[in-house]
Amino acid sequence: MDYDLLKIDMYISIVGSGYVGLVTGIGFAELGNNVIFVDIDVDKVNKINSSISPIYEKELQQLMSRNKGKYRATSDYRDAILNSNLTFICVGTPSKEDGSIDLRYIESAARNIGRVLADKDDFHVVVVKSTVIPGTTEGVIKPIIEKESGKEAFKDFGLAMNPEFLREGNAVEDFFNPDRIVIGVKDEKTKSILDKLYKQFNSPKLFTDIKTAEMIKYASNAFLATKISFANEIGNICKKLRIDVYKVFEGVGLDHRINPAFFRAGIGFGGSCFPKDVKALIRKAEELGEDPKILKAVIDVNEKQPLKMIELLKKHIPNLANRKIGVLGLAFKPDTDDIRESRAIPIVEALLREGAKIIAYDPKAMNNFAKIFPQIEYAKSSWEVIAKSDAVLIVTEWKEFEELNYEGKIVIDGRRIEKAMKEAKIYEGVCW
Ligand code: NAD
Repeated sequence: MDYDLLKIDMYISIVGSGYVGLVTGIGFAELGNNVIFVDIDVDKVNKINSSISPIYEKELQQLMSRNKGKYRATSDYRDAILNSNLTFICVGTPSKEDGSIDLRYIESAARNIGRVLADKDDFHVVVVKSTVIPGTTEGVIKPIIEKESGKEAFKDFGLAMNPEFLREGNAVEDFFNPDRIVIGVKDEKTKSILDKLYKQFNSPKLFTDIKTAEMIKYASNAFLATKISFANEIGNICKKLRIDVYKVFEGVGLDHRINPAFFRAGIGFGGSCFPKDVKALIRKAEELGEDPKILKAVIDVNEKQPLKMIELLKKHIPNLANRKIGVLGLAFKPDTDDIRESRAIPIVEALLREGAKIIAYDPKAMNNFAKIFPQIEYAKSSWEVIAKSDAVLIVTEWKEFEELNYEGKIVIDGRRIEKAMKEAKIYEGVCW
């Protein structure tokens, strides 16, 4: 292909078609680009080719149906790279046992891309969108692609880092209206190509060097996680003092130096990003001889916080053996089917340790949860959980839980559902 990259619509390949890759690719297809997804998961590839979303994300299915023909998926890197001029790497970057970043998917993606680039004459841009520890793009990905392709980065092919800030559950909206677009680049040609790719977005664009872009993502996630653990710590003190922590943070948030968002005290953060990213940053800092005390405390508060629910439950049912406990919500937050690091996991584990019988319900995440907890009962509706349980734990703030009838129930609430607060026979907010 002999494209003048700055004049034509982009031909984009997306390596890794999960929450980030799929939303990014379908978003760019909606904006008029041609997109090829690459994934090692054949089931995902088949679903995408049938225009069926393999994940639940608001509005994504409609966008996939509407843009049929503008995207396709494959497991063949050669097909994807040779038929595109820009590749986003969106594979997962999970934690290793010790909390440090596991780069095996990134390394494998880089190797596969490099092998194809060896046979490609045209300039191709590789953009890292996965969250990677500062230094990874230039220190790990670049040498792998260079070795496999026999080419030189920033000269024969472009390399950039463009961290993703979308929120699961709101990912499509966030794709089209991001607060900011951060682009870490080194060479001018790649910079102009990415500038052109993001031309249609009105959000502020920040061009930085590559390492800075990588760090912006970690610092953002670490700060947001800190806000949550801070709110929870203050909330735990408020609970003992019989002070409403939500009023407290309303007052705190009105200070223009402190944005009110992300101060919802509760049972802590889960998901595929905050826990693993804060842990990876801690491990990296330690490797560098630093002792990141605040970050360690953020994780520590977060690990203890969900267990407060069990403590509060036992105040009212001291012996949980054979008692039927309802769990409302399994996803790590509402509007997603993602259960990675969900607070429901340590809560269910603790209930099982106590010998409780569990009946659980989640509008989207039960299939995923049943893969790790096949032994618990799954209800057909949230009403069934209420009807069949001795006490109910509210773990995820799904909208439909705001409509339930909690009259006569023992409710331990991790997410501040007002109706439960008003109606329950016995009500305990986790930190209010
Ligand atoms: P995910 O697990 O949903 O998706 C990753 C996909 O990559 C999977 O479909 C997997 O099959 C595929 N894959 C793995 N190895 C591959 C390979 N060698 N070649 C091709 N495909 C491969 O992950 P995600 O949640 O989309 O996250 C991806 C990255 O984006 C991570 O680094 C994450 O930290 C970051 N991120 C995630 C979010 C989020 O909300 N999920 C937000 C911002 C950034």
